[in-house]
Amino acid sequence: MKKVGILGGGQLGRMLLQTAANYPVETYLMENDANAPAAHLCKHFIKGDITDFNAVYEFGKSLDVVTIEIENVNVEALEKLAEEGIQVIPHPSALRIIKDKIKQKQYYKHNQIPTPEFVITHSKKELQNHVSFLPAVHKIGNGGYDGKGVQVIKTEKDIEKGFDAPAVLEKMVVIKKEISIIIAVSKNGQTAIYPPVDMMFDPILNLLTYQICPAALDESVFYKAEAIAISAVKNLNSSGIFAVEMFTDAEGNVWLNEIAPRVHNSGHHSIEGNYCSQFDMLWRILLDYPLGNTDVIMPSALVNLVGDEGFQGAAEYIGLNEVLAMDNIFVHLYGKQQTKPGRKMGHVTIISKDKQELLYKANQIKNTLFVRSK
Ligand code: ADP
Repeated sequence: MKKVGILGGGQLGRMLLQTAANYPVETYLMENDANAPAAHLCKHFIKGDITDFNAVYEFGKSLDVVTIEIENVNVEALEKLAEEGIQVIPHPSALRIIKDKIKQKQYYKHNQIPTPEFVITHSKKELQNHVSFLPAVHKIGNGGYDGKGVQVIKTEKDIEKGFDAPAVLEKMVVIKKEISIIIAVSKNGQTAIYPPVDMMFDPILNLLTYQICPAALDESVFYKAEAIAISAVKNLNSSGIFAVEMFTDAEGNVWLNEIAPRVHNSGHHSIEGNYCSQFDMLWRILLDYPLGNTDVIMPSALVNLVGDEGFQGAAEYIGLNEVLAMDNIFVHLYGKQQTKPGRKMGHVTIISKDKQELLYKANQIKNTLFVRSK
C-alpha cells in the first residue's frame, strides 16, 4: 500500500481522509494541534510544524507521496523531498508561485492570463505614489487567507489601511459574479474540469451567503472562464487539484483572481453534487488511478456554516435538528471544538433540480442553523 502524507489537519484534510477510507492507502498527517479536525482520521498522526524545514523533511522522506491542504507549508523541504524522488503534489515549483501573491500575479502576466492590472509595492508609504491607480485592492504578498491580507483602497484616505510589507496593488474590478472552476491534473498531464461554481452574495446582507453549481453564465463567458482556468493551471506544470477563482464583469470579461493548488471550499458541493468529488479525485491522482467523472449529478447549493458574531467558546449547533429534518440536505460539521466569529465550522449542501428550491432552502438554512457558544 502506498504511504501518503498530508500537511495540515483542517477541514480539507478531514474530508480528504474521510474519502481515503475507500482506497488502498496508508495515511500520514502532520499538524501541530492533536485536536485538529483531521487528526483522528489518519492512520499515523505526527505532531509537527508544517512551516518548519526539518519537520516537513523528516515527515516526508519515508513516504511515497506528499500533498498539502494549506499553502502555508515549508516549500524548501518539499523541494528537497521532490529532488530525492518523493512525489510532491502539487509540485513545489507551483506552490512557490502560488504562495506569494506577487509571484502569482507576475506568473499570470507572463503567461498572458487576464488578471486585474497591478503594481507591486513594498511599503505603505509607497502607496502614495499610486494615487492615480485608485480605486484598488491591496493584497499582502505572503500569509493572507480568507480575505485577511486584503484591503480595499478606494481613495487616498484609505492608504493608512494598506500593508507595510511586500504586496500587490490591484485595480478594483466592478464584479458581476465571482466564480470558481476546479481542475484536476493527473501525473501524466490529463485534465478533468468541474462545472463552474457561482459564489453568490446576498444583496440585503451583503455577505457571501452561498455557492451554486453549476453557475449561470452566458455561453461566451463560460468558455472564456474555462479557457482561462485551463491555461492558468496547465502552465504550472503540476499535477493535483486546482481551484481557479475568477471575476466576471458587466462587459463579459473574465479576470483571474487567484488559484489554490489544493482542494477548496468552492468544491465541497462535489461530495454529493458530482459523480466524483474533489476529494475522491485527489486520491485518484495521488494513487495513479484514472481521473473520475466531474459531471453534475444534480445542481447544488452550499451554505458555509461560520461562527456567529458575538459568540466565542465551546461550539454549539443551534437548529441542527430542524435542518436535519429537511429533505436532500447534507450537513458536514468539521469537528472544531471552539467557535469564534467568522470561523468556518461546517457546511451544508443542498441538492435539487429546481434552482428556486436551492435558493429557498439555502436561505432557510441560513436562518435556522447557527454556531454559537454555550
Ligand atoms: P483571499 O486569498 O484572502 O481569499 P482574494 O484575493 O480572493 O483574497 O480577495 C478576497 C475578496 O476581495 C475577493 O473574493 C473579492 O470579493 C475581493 N477582491 C479581490 N480582488 C479584487 C479586485 N481586484 N477588485 C474587486 N474586488 C476584489
